Amino acid sequence: KGHGLRYASFLHQKGYIGGQWVSAASGKTFEVTNPSNGKVIASVPDMDEHDAQMAIDAAYDAFQTWRRTTAKERAILLRKWYSLMEEHKEDLAILMTAEAGKPLVESRGEITYGSSFLEWFAEEARRIHGEVVQSPAPSKEMIFLREPIGVVSMITPWNFPNAMITRKAGAALAAGCTCVIKPAEDTPFSALAAVDLAEKAGIPPGVVNVVTASRPNTPAVGEILCTSPKVAGMSFTGSTVVGQLLYKLCSTGIKRIGLELGGNAPFIVFNGANLKSAVEGLMVAKFRNAGQACISANRILVQSGVYDQFLEQLKEAVSKQLVVGDGFDKGVNQGPIINQSQLNKVSAIVKDSVAAGAHLVTGGNPHKLGGLFYEPTILTEVTEDMPCFKEEIFGPVVAVRKFETEEEALQIANNSDRGLAAYFYSQDVSQVWRVARRLETGMIGINEGLISATEGAFGGVKQSGIGREGSRHGIDDYTNIKYICIGGI
Ligand code: ADP
Repeated sequence: KGHGLRYASFLHQKGYIGGQWVSAASGKTFEVTNPSNGKVIASVPDMDEHDAQMAIDAAYDAFQTWRRTTAKERAILLRKWYSLMEEHKEDLAILMTAEAGKPLVESRGEITYGSSFLEWFAEEARRIHGEVVQSPAPSKEMIFLREPIGVVSMITPWNFPNAMITRKAGAALAAGCTCVIKPAEDTPFSALAAVDLAEKAGIPPGVVNVVTASRPNTPAVGEILCTSPKVAGMSFTGSTVVGQLLYKLCSTGIKRIGLELGGNAPFIVFNGANLKSAVEGLMVAKFRNAGQACISANRILVQSGVYDQFLEQLKEAVSKQLVVGDGFDKGVNQGPIINQSQLNKVSAIVKDSVAAGAHLVTGGNPHKLGGLFYEPTILTEVTEDMPCFKEEIFGPVVAVRKFETEEEALQIANNSDRGLAAYFYSQDVSQVWRVARRLETGMIGINEGLISATEGAFGGVKQSGIGREGSRHGIDDYTNIKYICIGGI
């Protein structure tokens, strides 16, 4: 289809260290495939801990000068990076659809979302203010400076291969930090294309580095990224299991850590909800990226008074609106599952839930297109102990449960060790406040299924993570407060 030609100039088959496009010292590479058709796109270096150390060294050296640039200089460079990403949106989106399988419309949306972090943090850079506080003694002045923490390691996932990088790197660079990025092995090309534009924007060598590694090499690379004395912090987005591991590794060196981990979002529809908008909201919150998002609606709770009606409308929306296929094909809005192991997980969750008594309304099988495609699925009569409620599904599967009272819905919603996003639909203003106060999550969409925005504070509570990304709080992970006390005045 000629897509390869469109993104050819952005397809880098090298890592990026100290401003150079480099191979692994071992010379090894690994292949990256298109999940829609299983074809190999190209290869990237399979770097190990020695390559990662070189990237850390480069970032450390670059930090010594980058930290002394003015906020205005950094803002100008970030703004330039943003403009280049906007300018090349279509090529970056095509590359993303090729490696992540995401429908092209969604890939374009992600580049817009991804570049918005660069724009936002270009603006925020100049407002990272210190403070002058009231001293208790007349002979003293007390001042807080905000300083960059240093080199930050970043490990990012495949489900948002561009935005999860800009959301971290944009904030880090604005603060005056430098970084080493280890993108997901499924989607390294989007990361490399993004830093290609950082280079073209004039961001100095060593400020942004990318180390690509296969899954087998990843643990060793992850370890050095968390333990090197030259690294000041780690920012990770991915599964809770890996987050726990990295948190532990970071403890020895007392590194700053930001974790954006898995969720298990409840989506509650109360009797007083506007059902049409609730169904619309669920379609977005569930089926964006074929359900492969950490804020995907996972546990659907519908109050008994509207249950039948809601389910009817949901079934209709699922059967009429969803088109499964190659993300490049016209009209497709459901791409493949990213890889076989994720597909196996989704399949097993559905199978085990059905075996435990869930009712299969529609779907429930690999799609007739074969490969990594899975049928949009609806399960009802779900109970709390079923895998589809206990685990993050990460696929196009809607698991629905009926409830009677607000109290019951809150208990079910909060009965989880995850606390990333929650959604609920209600037109009752008292209920809106009551429920918003009591839901144990970092983010809540009320009468809204699409909550992600650079202006929003993204993050979780419980085992869903530590810290916030985006918004003005997104800078906090990358700065230290230095307290200065001047005496003898
Ligand atoms: P998923 O299950 O969605 O692939 P992961 O948490 O496994 O989520 O992957 C997110 C990122 O974490 C990827 O970049 C992946 O390579 C990386 N990762 C996986 N295992 C480790 C590990 N042991 N150490 C460091 N990074 C890891």
